[in-house]
Amino acid sequence: MIDRKVIQKSYEPGFWEKIYYPEVFKGLCITGWHFVRNMWSHTLRYVFHIKSVKPGFVTIQYPEEQRLISPVARMRHRLMLRPDGTVKCVACMMCETICPDDCIHITAAERDDPTVEKYAIAFEIDLLRCCFCGYCVEACPEDAIRMDACYLDLAGWSRGALVIDRETMMSDGALSRKFQVQKEFQESISR
Ligand code: SF4
Ligand code: SF4
Repeated sequence: MIDRKVIQKSYEPGFWEKIYYPEVFKGLCITGWHFVRNMWSHTLRYVFHIKSVKPGFVTIQYPEEQRLISPVARMRHRLMLRPDGTVKCVACMMCETICPDDCIHITAAERDDPTVEKYAIAFEIDLLRCCFCGYCVEACPEDAIRMDACYLDLAGWSRGALVIDRETMMSDGALSRKFQVQKEFQESISR
């Protein structure tokens, strides 16, 4: 049996932290400093047009405005399509098998096309269970599933709304948004 040494680290607050008010005051000073600095940089840049001033932070008015996402971020899944518009997935069940959260459910059916044995007639992913590990994408031998749909909106009014079906994932996969988003992202960071 391996003898493992467990190191436990505990944090003990000091006297000034224990009496609470100095820390609150410190926090208010930091917040106030950011407010004043931001207000001045916006005023100097946009009212007095002094462009040499470092830009202040900008609040993004979500959900009307959406933050640009890195093209390598793992977002909602999408299913890739063949040139004839049919789903690329061959229902091999590799993704369903490897998924650590058991949130992929596929129903296979036979295809008329003799070159493609099977296809997914139903394909569902429960996003509430998904941990966005990306194993399904890595395991797919057909590059049929990707997680670069670039949708940040992972909220819904019911649990059912967060179970995405084959048709939703196919419509997200109709066009590769990756390069478009990559371009926008590069432009935004070079500004
Ligand atoms: S990202 Fe991970 S948890 Fe989510 S569906 Fe794919 S394999 Fe399962
Ligand atoms: S998405 Fe890929 S791994 Fe999953 S069933 Fe389809 S072909 Fe297999």
